[in-house]
Amino acid sequence: MTVQSDSYATSTPTTVLVTGATSGIGKAVALGFARNKSAVAINGFGHGSEISAVLDELKASGATKAIHVPSDMSQVKDIETLIITTQNQLGSLDVLVNNAGIQYTAKVEDFPAEKWDQVIAINLTSAFHTIRLALPMMKARNFGRIINIASVHGLVGSVQKAAYVAAKHGIIGLTKVVALECAEQNITANSVCPGWVLTPLVEAQLTANAKRDNVTNDQAVHNLLLEKQPSLRFVPLDELSQLCLFLASPGASSINGAALPIDGGWTAR
Ligand code: NAD
Repeated sequence: MTVQSDSYATSTPTTVLVTGATSGIGKAVALGFARNKSAVAINGFGHGSEISAVLDELKASGATKAIHVPSDMSQVKDIETLIITTQNQLGSLDVLVNNAGIQYTAKVEDFPAEKWDQVIAINLTSAFHTIRLALPMMKARNFGRIINIASVHGLVGSVQKAAYVAAKHGIIGLTKVVALECAEQNITANSVCPGWVLTPLVEAQLTANAKRDNVTNDQAVHNLLLEKQPSLRFVPLDELSQLCLFLASPGASSINGAALPIDGGWTAR
């Protein structure tokens, strides 16, 4: 069921950047802020027509402005362009959601070095760059909300995910340092730690699992959830969007440096 009401809407429209928002969690979070009448900047890969469709959806949902900046989050120069363009075109950057991420699975001894570098660059180093570049304006305005989409894999490990688990543990550490450094300036930084969410990133893993175990896709879904997620259901995209809206709202001003699981009980085990 898609819930369209965002009960934790911020009291005033905001300017928001969501990285990796052409798909999955990032797109859902961007749409949540759009429904809250925010001006929204996104980035992420996709064909021109797909990106236009996302921008149209953001505007139709209520975004006062919707722009896409075609930055590759593995490139520092691109990230500089992303932050400067967002600030120039939206007028400010109140809420930064670091969401762009990729996955690669292999045992440690088989993990290609270039894949390690890529996962760390996109899932961790990019957030360091967006944050360091966004903070001066946030500090000048004495307001900022930084939301890092980490993962349960920032809190616990899983086999064959060395780079991903290292990056996600890293982003939770980075978040804590930012929270401490900015605590007196009305800037908060928090990590959101989802369990399984049905997005293209997970669909790729399901397809691989079904092939590996010679089972149907439905069986692969059941096995995936049974192994880790006690709720036995995927975390709905709308719940992630609502959590991010809440973290950006005045009611969350004292939540700072936290790593918040939204995982159907995964990390309670
Ligand atoms: P997704 O594959 O649906 O979306 C990833 C987004 O990142 C896309 O918009 C893609 O274009 C963008 N992206 C990838 N590489 C990029 C690059 N180099 N430059 C710019 N954009 C790039 O994945 P998702 O499942 O929505 O994942 C989003 C975030 O949530 C990731 O950080 C992921 O680690 C995290 N997460 C996902 C799950 C899950 O179960 N899906 C669980 C926990 C955490």
